[in-house]
Amino acid sequence: DFVDRGNSDPQITVCVRKRPMNKKETDLKEVDIVSIPDKQRIIVHEPKLKVDLTKFLENQQFRFDFAFDENCNNEIVYRCTARPLVRTLFEGGMATCFAYGQTGSGKTHTMGGEFLGKNQNCGNGIYVLTATDVFRKIQQPKYSDLHLKVSASFFEIYSGKVFDLLNAKAKLRVLEDGKQQVQVVGLSERTVESVDQVLDLIRHGSRMRTSGQTAANANSSRSHAVFQIILRSGAASRLHGKFSLVDLAGNERGADTNSSDRQTRMEGSEINKSLLALKECIRALGRRGAHLPFRASKLTQVLKDSFIGEKSKTCMIAMISPGMSSCEHSLNTLRYADRVKEL
Ligand code: ADP
Ligand code: MG
Repeated sequence: DFVDRGNSDPQITVCVRKRPMNKKETDLKEVDIVSIPDKQRIIVHEPKLKVDLTKFLENQQFRFDFAFDENCNNEIVYRCTARPLVRTLFEGGMATCFAYGQTGSGKTHTMGGEFLGKNQNCGNGIYVLTATDVFRKIQQPKYSDLHLKVSASFFEIYSGKVFDLLNAKAKLRVLEDGKQQVQVVGLSERTVESVDQVLDLIRHGSRMRTSGQTAANANSSRSHAVFQIILRSGAASRLHGKFSLVDLAGNERGADTNSSDRQTRMEGSEINKSLLALKECIRALGRRGAHLPFRASKLTQVLKDSFIGEKSKTCMIAMISPGMSSCEHSLNTLRYADRVKEL
């Protein structure tokens, strides 16, 4: 039972979610080195060696808006993260929700849920839970005058290029017009009238996403997936609000800049660049007049309009793998998330 935060309505929310130990980790008799003592704190018990080689644990503590332990399900995570932002969308604002973390930490499980994750019993993810609330809210009489319509887009950013997941992975161009508006030229936007139709799009898009991959799941850990729920109003279909739900590339891939393979190195440096730019763009949201380095990466460029304006709101969920072998990556993830919220 996570409590409501009363009337506080932050522009930036940063949370952590720790997944349970998996079979591989327990089989290897790995130690769970992450604890969540209350609903805001997370502690990593980092194994260290003294000079005389005696072992000790150094506790590294972080505090966030919410810390979800391994017993929290997608529904609870959704309620504290994306759900408050559905209102932003209806009020005519831009909302974003990012799943950040190393490969295998639970990003797709959280965003895609049972339809995309490998675990078939985890229930709906944030994509579907958000869509469900959007269709529920659009029934409310107070929005009837706006004549709102719901539509969705789904695309992937891989190695600095945009691919349309709703149109056979067509490669799309990103243009900035004279009014500094960024456009993804030709991006599919499908009108949706029910949760089932949203589900169909997500299933279709994710099949696209994983098709043509060689090494097991290699590409999807190296690409950002962006699912957008869009509200348009009136006969002219004027943009009312947009909610971008982003399953980010594995942050450990940013270290591939040392790889011997040139392509892998380039992908790694692109991921690195985009995650650094993302951090700065989110931080700029909370600081009036701050520099917005959105041109530094394709990801931040296509999300530019989400980082400007007082109505924009964002939420980041940093995913943590609990095992000892993930210690370094978990600490990197927590330090990054810590920087995002620090003003
Ligand atoms: P990522 O997208 O970050 O690479 P996944 O979402 O694919 O990671 O998760 C890796 C594995 O861990 C999957 O089998 C997934 O079902 C499982 N998993 C992740 N988070 C949870 C969780 N909170 N509870 C149970 N299983 C989880
Ligand atoms: Mg994934």
